[in-house]
Amino acid sequence: MGSLGVDFVSPNEEMELEFDPSALPPFKLSEIRSAIPKHCWVKNPWRSLSYVLRDIVIVFALLAMAIFLDSWKFWPLYWGLQGTMFWALFVLGHDCGHGSFSDSTLLNNVVGHILHSFILVPYHGWRISHKTHHQNHGNVEADESWVPMPEKLYKELDFTTKFFRFKVPFPLLAYPMYLVSRSPGKKGSHFNPYSELFQPNERKFVVTSTLCWTIMVALLFYLNSVVGSLQLLKLYGIPYMGILIINEFSVLKLVIFRGL
Ligand SMILES: [Zn+2]
Repeated sequence: MGSLGVDFVSPNEEMELEFDPSALPPFKLSEIRSAIPKHCWVKNPWRSLSYVLRDIVIVFALLAMAIFLDSWKFWPLYWGLQGTMFWALFVLGHDCGHGSFSDSTLLNNVVGHILHSFILVPYHGWRISHKTHHQNHGNVEADESWVPMPEKLYKELDFTTKFFRFKVPFPLLAYPMYLVSRSPGKKGSHFNPYSELFQPNERKFVVTSTLCWTIMVALLFYLNSVVGSLQLLKLYGIPYMGILIINEFSVLKLVIFRGL
């Protein structure tokens, strides 16, 4: 209420008041597609690869700077910057999974494996379940990720699951937990080729990605023995946590529905 007894509503608030997120959009998907300029649909693998090269150069440059400076004045800046870069690698791998990186499935899969394995994501396992997520976005029963838990299911959860899912700081580990055992109430794992997430003809893809993930874990164990746990935590572990934080807080407002 303003001093003259008048309610003031900022333009942003006005838009929010008018916006009904549950209403059907006033346009069709085909209209959006036809509004996008033709050249935006042309995939240029060289351009895509240049983004990968740019991001990898930045990641290694930051690593070199952190090792060289080894200063507590620089470490917090490094964690912020490198966490953002790890997220950038995740996004490029995500584009490989969607096939928007290039028209070559082989190139998409090779680059996707390199990028996602580096940040401990099983490329094919996640790619396949992510498709289910997009096909059922916001559907509380059928969406694969980012769905609120019904009260009934929450009450049925055992103590350990509740503790690790909802007690700070454990929710920050929700993403790796999701990769290992999906969301509460759903069975299967992104690492297990026999998980109900996958069709029989997809099992060989899942095995490949789980193998690549295992190689990365082995490399981290090796690096741990070379540089020590604390240095590995500072160089890799904390930036990796950055991906998890971005993943956790990237969805602020979302329409959830059921039974459609
Ligand atoms: Zn996506």
